[in-house]
Amino acid sequence: MKKYFLAILAITSTVITGQAQQKKLNQDSLVKESAKTELWEPVPALVSTGKPFTDAPSDAIVLFNGKDLNSWQKADKKPVGWKLDKEGSVTVVKGSGNIETKQGFGSCQLHIEWREPAAIAGASQTRGNSGIFFMSQYELQVLDSYNNPTYVNGQAGSIYKQHIPLVNASKKPGEWQTYDVIFTAPQFYADGSLQTPAYITVLYNGVLVQNHVAIKGHTEWIGTPKYSAHKDKEPLLLQDHGLDGGNPMSYRNIWIREL
Ligand code: MG
Repeated sequence: MKKYFLAILAITSTVITGQAQQKKLNQDSLVKESAKTELWEPVPALVSTGKPFTDAPSDAIVLFNGKDLNSWQKADKKPVGWKLDKEGSVTVVKGSGNIETKQGFGSCQLHIEWREPAAIAGASQTRGNSGIFFMSQYELQVLDSYNNPTYVNGQAGSIYKQHIPLVNASKKPGEWQTYDVIFTAPQFYADGSLQTPAYITVLYNGVLVQNHVAIKGHTEWIGTPKYSAHKDKEPLLLQDHGLDGGNPMSYRNIWIREL
């Protein structure tokens, strides 16, 4: 009986080990596939930046003023799991999911401030990764890119896997940084085909890093970006990059002007 039990145990553990190996193989092949769209040069020059502009103009819609997350929800409408901080910022809670605005936006001017934790954890894409997804699908990358080599079309200020920033305007981790963005929504014909692409201009800590570049489609980790027709207005989404290392970064003072 004991022999029989041990044999079953051996078979079960072999099956489990086999499954784990398969899972690892699948993950490895995904990572390999994703590397095909990584660019590692030219490396944008590092520039130092001054004091960022912060105040919302009178006609802006304030999306986050440090007090509450009433303008935000999860895509599944469940409560937002991110943590409000005493100093008027909000910090990503890893694994709690992306958050998005309740209101949809098309073309807009966006101001958003973000800070990477002073204590460095993770490397490359796992060092404070988040992202600002216009219309829930076009990502302006958020990453700690201060002395953190990674593929350059995935560093802070990049349009993820589409456009390398003109320079690296990153401040040190622990310092507040700003993005000021002018985003033009794409247009689609009635049959769903693309009429005009989205365009984006990005000032990073006051420095131009994307100059009216055409977005190539929905942000993709693997493969070529493509457009698929969507509504004229879609939520602005902030990314919880999830489970893979790094440590939580924060946002504050988010305002938007519809264009
Ligand atoms: Mg990201």
